[in-house]
Amino acid sequence: MIYKQLGSTSYSMKKTKIIATYGPAVSSGTKVKQLVDAGVNLFRINCSHGKREDFLKAVKIIRQGTKSARFPVGILFDISGPKLRVDRFDGELPVKSGDRVTLTTDTTDLSQKKIAVNHPAIIASVKKGERLFIDDGNIVFKILKTNKTEIVIKAENNETILPGKGINLPDTKLKIPTITEKDKKDIKTAVDAKADYIALSFVRSGDDIIEAGKLIRKYGGTQWVIAKLEKREAIEDLDTIMLLADGVMVARGDLGVELPFAELPRMQKDIIRLANYHHKPVIIATQMLESMRFSPRATRAEVNDVATAVFDFVDAVMLSAETATGNYPVETVKAMTEVIEATEEVSVKGDTAVDKHLIKSEITQAIAYSVHTAQEDTDVKMIAAYTSSGFTARLISNLFPPQPVIALTSDTKVLAKLCLFRSVYPVKVSQPKTFNAMIKTINGICSKHKLAKQNEMIIIAGGVPFGIRGTTNFMMIHEIT
Ligand code: PGA
Ligand code: MN
Repeated sequence: MIYKQLGSTSYSMKKTKIIATYGPAVSSGTKVKQLVDAGVNLFRINCSHGKREDFLKAVKIIRQGTKSARFPVGILFDISGPKLRVDRFDGELPVKSGDRVTLTTDTTDLSQKKIAVNHPAIIASVKKGERLFIDDGNIVFKILKTNKTEIVIKAENNETILPGKGINLPDTKLKIPTITEKDKKDIKTAVDAKADYIALSFVRSGDDIIEAGKLIRKYGGTQWVIAKLEKREAIEDLDTIMLLADGVMVARGDLGVELPFAELPRMQKDIIRLANYHHKPVIIATQMLESMRFSPRATRAEVNDVATAVFDFVDAVMLSAETATGNYPVETVKAMTEVIEATEEVSVKGDTAVDKHLIKSEITQAIAYSVHTAQEDTDVKMIAAYTSSGFTARLISNLFPPQPVIALTSDTKVLAKLCLFRSVYPVKVSQPKTFNAMIKTINGICSKHKLAKQNEMIIIAGGVPFGIRGTTNFMMIHEIT
């Protein structure tokens, strides 16, 4: 089956969403607007670079650049977690296979092949015989000796250690909390800035998600938490994480170092399947169009990588350095949008079986399924779903209808969160008082966004009495008048 032809909008209403990382290459309202026009649905602020003032300024610029956008654009704060690094020393240290290097809690002395690390826990946690990687897994070491303040490691290949490069410890149980003191400050900044999502790096267990949620509430926020899956321990506790998090990200950069990278593709597919099963949004991240940092055209392998995610029905694909520091940020987003649109034209979801026991509300589920069956049996142009908590929109999105799902909500806290869900475009409305008022609002949205013309049919799902959370109880097929 080919995707049904929808109303002719002059802009993209692609189903798969794009998250662009904010950074110096796009740090103006004009650039932000260009990215949105090219297809960006959410911006990621990477808390690994900068401090509170920088993040607040970024939010201001993003809000300025997105204020005239057709649909709300979300903001996701990416909290760095315990990112392990070597010291940002002056110079570099070339190593040959067999060379011994010392990592220390003290200071760097390159003449002694001694390098300081950013977390003492690295020294305290590792055991003899474990592996240690520097620079995204490019330099491989074995741990030879450990004591309280230093470890001796032996290189297994020839490379150069550059300042500030990342350390990965795939075999080690790290004695360090997932949420660091800096992370707590960044979470508070995200709450103060009214971000929509908080993504938590290096999550290891469901407890990390619970702790993040507690902090968010303590600071007075309602942000949803995305678990970045980039540790073996997270994969081992995936069922619990999936239940507790509001969404997951396949963070392939670190995941591909912590696990044998040949296992990444099957891991990605498994995670997507599990996320769909739990009705949780899933984001594919890192190196999707990496070559476009320096080139105006993507490689054929990258084009296939983006398409694979679309064929697998993910909610969003993410760009990192491509937009943050790349030479072609707008072109990259345009390329991604084109690949998404071309792929969605021929994507069809066969099996939408979900575990009904996971669902809290049988009625909402029954409505979501009715919507799904109705759109299969009739020629509807779009689905309008009134949603107070976002739950109804999420369930409908998770059945992968080929039409756009317009999520209508009066809750500004929920509004931009919905733009992460596949197919869902949120619109703020005031709660209708009467049935006729509801129809009038929806007719207006259809014509404003060219979603359906007169005499065309759409589906409306919602709950009466209007405006009360958890009352989704009707769906209807409506002819636009
Ligand atoms: P990062 O996360 O860009 O914060 O490292 C993504 C990844 O590891 O893939
Ligand atoms: Mn990472």
